[in-house]
Amino acid sequence: MTCRILFVEDELAIREMVEMALTRAGYHVTGAQDSRAAMTCIADQYPDLILLDWMLPDSSGLELARRIRKDKQTQRIPIIMLTARNTEADMIQGLDSGADDYITKPFSPRELVARIKALLRRSAPHGVDELIEHHGLKLNTGSQRITIGSTEIKVGPTEYRLMLFFMTHLDRVYTRAQLLDHVWGQTTYVEERTVDVHIRRLRKALEPFGLAGFIETVRGSGYRYHPKASSPLM
Ligand code: CA
Repeated sequence: MTCRILFVEDELAIREMVEMALTRAGYHVTGAQDSRAAMTCIADQYPDLILLDWMLPDSSGLELARRIRKDKQTQRIPIIMLTARNTEADMIQGLDSGADDYITKPFSPRELVARIKALLRRSAPHGVDELIEHHGLKLNTGSQRITIGSTEIKVGPTEYRLMLFFMTHLDRVYTRAQLLDHVWGQTTYVEERTVDVHIRRLRKALEPFGLAGFIETVRGSGYRYHPKASSPLM
């Protein structure tokens, strides 16, 4: 099946260049020139991935990313943020808004396609319908939902993949590089710092349930998923 990508960008020249590169790579691309047009496109047909420019004429790409993440219908759509802003603070702000990846302009079409492929791969359903369960937490690989009791713990696609990895690899310490390999897949483009951002997001999602402590930072090494023996909030 052809993947549908929504590209939100107000600069026509960039939109045409990217649309051409992605069409050549076999994707079906829809362009939107601002947030309002993007929301119309999303309501019309959910894209498999959204490429989102930070600077848009009506509202910023950050706001749009937050809106997409807040809505239950759209929260699982993978988002790549595109921007000319290239400091680490910008990157973290971009990822904190709910984006799964971050590419700085100017970028090569080849790099963009590689990032899209990697993100689609890690957002893809697991295939087998499986229920992983411990300490009251349930992760369903078919529906890609994480629940505790009857409440869903809302996470984005990258946090879901992290959680899936953690729940199937308990009590072991993984370095950021190992987590990148296992969760993000072999890609040379993602910085190790990205792992910290997604860990923070995952902890934030777990916090209301008293489970943030399940993810331990091991100083100088990395992270360990270590569910405590005591029962979480039920
Ligand atoms: Ca722009």
